[in-house]
Formats: sequence, C-alpha cells, structure tokens
Amino acid sequence: MSAEPGRDPKLALVGFRSDENSSFLRGAADAPPLIRQALASESSNSWSENGREVGPGSFFDAGDFGPGPGVDMLARIESAVAALLDQGYAPICLGGDHAITVPIVRAFAKKFPRLSILHFDAHPDIYDEFQGNRYSHACPFARIMEERLVQRLVQVGIRTATAHQREQAARFGVEMIEMRKFREGLVLPFETPVYISFDIDGLDPAFAPGVSHREPGGLSTRQALDVIAQIRAPIVGADVVEFNPRMDSSGMTAMVCAKLVKEIGGRMLENGK
Ligand code: MN
Ligand code: MN
Repeated sequence: MSAEPGRDPKLALVGFRSDENSSFLRGAADAPPLIRQALASESSNSWSENGREVGPGSFFDAGDFGPGPGVDMLARIESAVAALLDQGYAPICLGGDHAITVPIVRAFAKKFPRLSILHFDAHPDIYDEFQGNRYSHACPFARIMEERLVQRLVQVGIRTATAHQREQAARFGVEMIEMRKFREGLVLPFETPVYISFDIDGLDPAFAPGVSHREPGGLSTRQALDVIAQIRAPIVGADVVEFNPRMDSSGMTAMVCAKLVKEIGGRMLENGK
C-alpha cells in the first residue's frame, strides 16, 4: 500500500531486537513486544492528546527483526526501514539499543536529503569510539554526522557530556541543549523534515526507571511531550530506544514508551499541519 501525495501518512511500527552494541547491560532487545503489549493495554485508549487515533490498529506492523548467525544487523535494519519508506509508510522504530539509529537514519537520508534530527537522551552518544566499538550505542551520532546524513542535529536532555564529546559536538555543529540549561516552553523552529530519536534515558529515571543507564536529573515525561508538541515541521519518522525491561520492575517504563509512540504517532499524522 502506498501513501498518495497530500494524504496523511500511514504509520508503520517495526521492532529491532538488537542490544549487542550496548556497553553496560543487555536487555534492550526484549523491549519491542512489551511496548506493543503496553500500546494494546486496555488500561488506556488509543487516542493521542492532539485527537488522533494511534492504537495497534492504526499501524502497519512490520514485526520484529533480530540478529542471527551470519546476519549483518546494520544492513538488515537499513533495508527493513528503506522498504517501509519505499512503500510510503512513516515508520516508528522500536529498539533495541541506540546503535540501531545509524542504519535507520541511513535509510531516511536517502528519502529525505535535508533531514533534521531531534534527539532526546541523557548522553550525547557522539564518542568517536567506545570500548573499541565504533558502532557502540555510545557512538551513533558521530557516525551520522560523519556521513553527513542530516542537515541538523538538536540534542535535548543531555547531562553527561565529557570533554571529548563536547569537542565532537562542536566539530559537527551539533546543537546540544543540556539539561542544566533546559527550560519549560522550549521552542525549536525546524525548517526541514524532522526525525525524532528518543532514548528513554533522556527522561528522569523517576519517570522511566527501565533503562540500562539511569541518570538522575532528567526530563519529565510531560516536558518531553511538550517539546514534541511544539514542532511545526513535518515529523517523518522516529525511534524509541534503550528501554531495558530487565530494569523495569514496575512495568512503568513500558507504558511510558507506549505513550511516546502514541504521541509521536499523533504528531506524525498531523504531517506538520
Ligand atoms: Mn542514553
Ligand atoms: Mn542514547
């Protein structure tokens, strides 16, 4: 099924069960089925705050992709996302760790040559390499900027920048809105299509404890939703990554991920209107 020009996009959901590039804890690979389950939970309804229906029936569900013997996971992710884009879908990708964002954005960049990224995270994820791995979940935005895949990268919620990462951010022209400078009512005037990369640890662990790297002092769920709500450029795709169910004893973080999928999806359906 293809989207026709001028029509609302049709959302697709796809999971990437990959956590082999995590530096500290495994577990993020188990997230996609739990996020789907939370989306389908009868504890809430399927309506986004802006009045769109974004439930399990609103998505084309492309299923989950995982690593396996002889599988080049980066290539598998890029081709899965490219196929959805070619069919006219607007994909929301469920991680997995943050390393999946490199191949996802490679696919998006072919379709959207002037893409901007809005990146929520406690961490800048812009190390040149980490523990000898250039595709570590600590490095995706270094690869994305080196490959010139996007025209603009805006990071929100950052509270762990090292001297090296600050140098990297300056070198690549990254707009880093550190948590210590964050104020409510933040307006980000994007002028080109926006891709949202949402690392759940950008939120304060009080709101979303189910992450591998709990970093206190972060965004509330409400503050993050308000940043997403003020975007006026079309939101063409997104990922929700780094949810680690092994750290989520209350099940709260799965619900937070589902809420983000619902609200980002609701904004994607507005298509910048
Ligand atoms: Mn992070
Ligand atoms: Mn991250």
